[in-house]
Amino acid sequence: MVAKSRITLVRAPNPSALTLSGTNSYLIDCGNEEAVCVDPGPPIDRHVDALIETAAQKQLRIIWILITHGHPDHAPAAVPLAQRTGANVAAHPNSKAPHDRALHDRETLEVGRERFLAVDAPGHTFDHLVFYDPRERALFTGDVVLGEGTVVIAPPGGAMRPYQATLARLLADFPELDRIYGGHGEPVDDAPAKLREYIAHRHLREQQVIGELENGPRTIPDLITAIYAETDSRLWPAAARQMLAHLEALEHEGRVRSRQLDRAMTLEEKTILIPDWSSSAGAEEAEVVRAELGTDVDPELRVYEMCNTTLPN
Ligand SMILES: [Zn+2]
Repeated sequence: MVAKSRITLVRAPNPSALTLSGTNSYLIDCGNEEAVCVDPGPPIDRHVDALIETAAQKQLRIIWILITHGHPDHAPAAVPLAQRTGANVAAHPNSKAPHDRALHDRETLEVGRERFLAVDAPGHTFDHLVFYDPRERALFTGDVVLGEGTVVIAPPGGAMRPYQATLARLLADFPELDRIYGGHGEPVDDAPAKLREYIAHRHLREQQVIGELENGPRTIPDLITAIYAETDSRLWPAAARQMLAHLEALEHEGRVRSRQLDRAMTLEEKTILIPDWSSSAGAEEAEVVRAELGTDVDPELRVYEMCNTTLPN
């Protein structure tokens, strides 16, 4: 547990490959003995207990619960936490998580002596808000920006271009931004540098995809084994979902076209595209994998190629 003046991080006991060391729940002291909880986390009793005990130790009452997005490692504890504290829940208008108030883009929520600005942040999901705390010049970013590594952008729940637009917008709209408190990992001190790093990373990946496709038609497994050759192959299935997000964006823009291959997947292709997701730990973790990677939808074996924009004469 890391404390910094008004903001206390209470990490949920749900570590995994996708949640890193666990989901970050934040308690924010808003004055008048009132507090906000950003992302109550997974529905684990001892985590809800920890949130309530931490608030009590600081003589704070949790008045509002703010949900960044509805994924199972971020939102479900809102229900028991609200029941036990009487707090109200605020979420994105698209959120399927039960909430008392929908916050639209640029809406302000006043709590105690503080104000939080909600910002619509589509891309990782389409029910994603980030919250700006002007006093700390801090953004609570959920799964838009993490304290370590990068974020999974996987269709159909996520999409690459809206995600990239969200990163660019956060960088442009909050020039005074100091810190980022992400949904996983440690707080980030140089927030604008982190946003620039995230933007550059997506751009680099896409250049790599285009570079490969310029050498000829490629399937997603072809692209993964070329671009992620140095990466642990256990991470390839997640990378494949992200590759699909890049390819869908390029195809939508008319730069790439694809067609389904008229043959069965090889075993190697299958391990990358449709692995046995159930082999990963328990039911709760499997639910996170399903939500984060969109594994309810099995991708087809398609081959992608660049569209020729200039025809040779
Ligand atoms: Zn998420």
